[in-house]
Amino acid sequence: MSDVIVIGGGFAGLAAGVALAAEGVRVTVLEKRPFLGGRAYSYTDAATGETIDNGQHAMMGCYHHMFRFLERIGASDKLAIQSGLRVPMLDAERGRGVITCPALPNPLHMAAGVLGYRLLDLGDRARVLVGGLRLLAMKRRCDPRLATLTVDAVLDLLRQPQATRRAFWYPVAIATLNEDPALASADLLAEVMVRAFFSGKENARFVLARVGLSDLYTVDARRFIEERGGRVETKAHVVGIGVRAGEVTHLELRDGRRMTAHAYVSAVPPQGLFPILPLAIRRDLPALGAIERLASSPIVSVHVWFDRPLLRDDFIGFVGTQTHWCFNRDKITGRDPRGGSYLTFVSSGARAIVDLEADAIVAATLADVRHLLPGAAAATVRHTQVVKEKFATMSPTIEAERLRPTAATPLPNFFLAGDWTATGLPATIESAVQSGHRAAELAARCAAQGVRREEARAAS
Ligand SMILES: Cc1cc2nc3c(=O)[nH]c(=O)nc-3n(C[C@H](O)[C@H](O)[C@H](O)COP(=O)(O)OP(=O)(O)OC[C@H]3O[C@@H](n4cnc5c(N)ncnc54)[C@H](O)[C@@H]3O)c2cc1C
Repeated sequence: MSDVIVIGGGFAGLAAGVALAAEGVRVTVLEKRPFLGGRAYSYTDAATGETIDNGQHAMMGCYHHMFRFLERIGASDKLAIQSGLRVPMLDAERGRGVITCPALPNPLHMAAGVLGYRLLDLGDRARVLVGGLRLLAMKRRCDPRLATLTVDAVLDLLRQPQATRRAFWYPVAIATLNEDPALASADLLAEVMVRAFFSGKENARFVLARVGLSDLYTVDARRFIEERGGRVETKAHVVGIGVRAGEVTHLELRDGRRMTAHAYVSAVPPQGLFPILPLAIRRDLPALGAIERLASSPIVSVHVWFDRPLLRDDFIGFVGTQTHWCFNRDKITGRDPRGGSYLTFVSSGARAIVDLEADAIVAATLADVRHLLPGAAAATVRHTQVVKEKFATMSPTIEAERLRPTAATPLPNFFLAGDWTATGLPATIESAVQSGHRAAELAARCAAQGVRREEARAAS
């Protein structure tokens, strides 16, 4: 019997497993798929033989829990970290602009970055800065209006004109919240502004994996857990959670096994957890029953192999198009671009295109790219690959912020982790890892009590 069983082998589940193993807790991680990594994984593209991510993931300097997790498993050196925030953006109307933060104390670094952003007129740059500082002040004094406003509504309150939304607020909000600003919670945008952009230069840096996502963390995390006596099982699909007298008693697996532990951590998304909860629990415990109402928002990634290099930057943002970001996989991973380049294009909050055929998505993406990226019109496309993640992240609406459950549940030996739980953060890697660490802390304490009870029973 394990002390703790963790269901789910994504960032949250593996971070929980690693934290538990580090504390000497006997842990088992169960993952239903044949591979670990959840919504952040890589695989080999059959046509090119190259490793591609299910979607480009960008991290930030403020991802402190993620850094701790990667450091623990010895994977920190797989990251490329900017020396300071530098975000190039392309706009068909105004050309190229760069937000770049000099080495100044907070908040002067952001002030300098915004005031130098030439995709906005000087007056609009000042409006962004004043709006950002007001949003920050609202967050710091816990202004109750934030919990009731969408991003669009708070931008109205902050008197932000269309131009500042288009070239600054929307790219930031859509990238970090993965949702339409008309739906996304203003509170979460304010949290991002506080954590990432107005808490020092180090936190504002972009961080990218130099290797495929699965190589970034799944192999090292598994090894870390197994070296400490824990187990990581793939193709281990939990189909039921047994509950008796208000406690979880066991897990049922698709292969017929029953597994027991002193404590259990669910690190699966809401649409995975809801069906395996007993009916009575869904009905009688509103905190768990309500997770059915959490919706998700899609991300579409289009991987394109061109016959020539098209981009000098690691990544660049697109203003005013359905395609939001372009990532230069050659530069990020050190791939040799001489035989042709490999770029990944990302559309977040991509409801408008996610149900289109792959060919139509490629055509729409290439239209944006040829419109914006110098040289793209003349380049030949050699190969494309579309990855649709329909359930990419929780949709961070105002209602969702009220429904996100905490790590502790009404069942005293059952804990929740996952990017979608109540971390105060958008559904990101940092939210997932932070939640995993918190659930591990609670589960370790609960399991220790269980072990003590067991020892006392054995002694008597
Ligand atoms: C295309 C895309 C781009 C993204 N970009 C970014 C980004 O740039 N920056 C960022 O920070 N975040 C980004 N994210 C979000 C990030 O990937 C997630 O926040 C993170 O991976 C969530 O991890 P998790 O462990 O909470 O959940 P998951 O990764 O979903 O892990 C849950 C695991 O549980 C398993 N599971 C489910 N049900 C069961 C069951 N019954 N039994 C056993 N196992 C089960 C699943 O197979 C899965 O492996 C992106 C996501 C996507 C899809």
